[in-house]
Amino acid sequence: MRYACSGLVIVSAAAQAQDAGASLPVISLLTSLLILAFIYLFKLKFDVSRLKKKLAAKKDNQLGFYSLHDDISGFPNKFFLQQQLDSLLKRAPEQCYSLLLIKISQFEQVNQLLGHSNSNLILAQIAQRINEQLHSADTALTFEFRQQRPIRLCHLGGVDFAIWLECTDKQHLAEFVADELERSVPEPMVVHGCAVEYQLHSGIANYPEHGTQLNELLERAYLALQHHSWLQGKSQVFSPDMLHFTSDKLTLMAELRQAIAEGQLTLYVQPQIDMHSREVLAGEVYVRWRHPSRGLMTPDSFLALAEETGVIYPLTQWVLKEAVATIAQLAQAQLVSKIAVNISSKDLLQDELIDTLEFLFDKYKVKPQQLMLELKEQALIAEPARAMSMMQRLHRLGVELALDDFGTGFSSLAYLRKLPIQHVKVDCSFISELHKSDMHSAITGAIIDMARNLDLGVIAEGVEEVEVEQKLLRMGCQRGQGFLYSRPFELSGFAVWLKQWQQANTK
Ligand code: C2E
Ligand code: CA
Ligand code: CA
Repeated sequence: MRYACSGLVIVSAAAQAQDAGASLPVISLLTSLLILAFIYLFKLKFDVSRLKKKLAAKKDNQLGFYSLHDDISGFPNKFFLQQQLDSLLKRAPEQCYSLLLIKISQFEQVNQLLGHSNSNLILAQIAQRINEQLHSADTALTFEFRQQRPIRLCHLGGVDFAIWLECTDKQHLAEFVADELERSVPEPMVVHGCAVEYQLHSGIANYPEHGTQLNELLERAYLALQHHSWLQGKSQVFSPDMLHFTSDKLTLMAELRQAIAEGQLTLYVQPQIDMHSREVLAGEVYVRWRHPSRGLMTPDSFLALAEETGVIYPLTQWVLKEAVATIAQLAQAQLVSKIAVNISSKDLLQDELIDTLEFLFDKYKVKPQQLMLELKEQALIAEPARAMSMMQRLHRLGVELALDDFGTGFSSLAYLRKLPIQHVKVDCSFISELHKSDMHSAITGAIIDMARNLDLGVIAEGVEEVEVEQKLLRMGCQRGQGFLYSRPFELSGFAVWLKQWQQANTK
């Protein structure tokens, strides 16, 4: 506009000069000036529009870049991954691949501590580290090159990343890559003088075994990641049994793991009595969970899940430690110092059970004979040979073994003979109805006779009434436990209870 106005001024000046009868050279000078002005104006207009076009193209490029890249880290995003997969799978649909999902954990603290813009910088740096680590992973899909370095990491958004790996004849390649990343990437970063710590967790889903669509594979890899990071011993590869877990159950298990570490678990105890002499022979401990919002939880609400998810191992270790420490305290107070602990079938498959026990006996100066382990028949069903070998090792160590819930399973006499056990426990369900049901009476009688023939002790659980106690004594079973003597109570009160019982029952 500014230039166009000056053009008009020049035109009107030329006209005035003609009116004044100016000479020819003046006119031609003015005409040349006019032409020059037009050329100048035209060029200027051309430059501006070229500049505009250039800017628009740059903007388009930027838009193109950000539609395929994450705007925080600059790494390829999910659309980019999808695009690449579409063409890859078209070219080689029969090939198998692994989708490796990586999540940065504990990043919320980084956000809180450093604010969003700083933590975005850190996020970009971590992404860079992961990508660097993938430098030698040639089977990982390369999205693009930057400064001649391959970009193999996709930023799904937030703290989630993905890598697409071609399967080779090398077994467990994706797990290997995942373990390497989990182990070597998370070095603490120093920001404003603070060390920022974080961890990586991974989950893997395989194409086409676990799904053929990217979203399906991602969902399954997420599930595997949750299992792997929340539940001990779970591989990071998806398996269909993971689909049975609701996130509620997973949360509960993650909380249980934390509860063990934070001391929310507690032990209750129930005395085992010589029904004839009224002597206390032992105390059986039962675990309880003081959940911050669900209240006091009994084992039936979390044990099966704990077994399924591997949380049972740290739980049993905790129970054993508490039990052995209690044995030592009771012995010091010259009270009954035998404790029975329930162990799960899964525990029997853990080689370290022996080491744990040896360590505890040594630490608390307790004799193995002061500990009784109760295990159920199911413990022997899944892997009989391994379970039996562990029972033999426990027996050699010197701990007493009892077969729990006896009568509810299928153990035959011949089988029972092979087990290195010292006691059978007749299940509550037979005992509580003993005085009312001929059938329960007959079964209990048969178990007692059989046990006697095999030189095994019999413990009756669930003794609630005097009639039951008397009937058991008549049948030849002397050892019992149940509400008749005491409901389970907190283990910390056992010493006081024992003293009171002794006082009340000394003849
Ligand atoms: P169990 O070993 O057969 O324990 C007996 C269950 O019956 C206990 O339930 C006990 O509180 C209850 N009980 C005791 N006396 C009576 C009675 O007179 N009448 C009736 N009706 N019930 C009685 P609890 O504490 O809920 O434990 C249930 C099961 O959970 C136990 O069955 C045991 O298999 C398991 N368990 C408990 N604590 C642990 C533990 O620390 N580790 C493992 N692996 N399992 C445990
Ligand atoms: Ca038991
Ligand atoms: Ca039972």
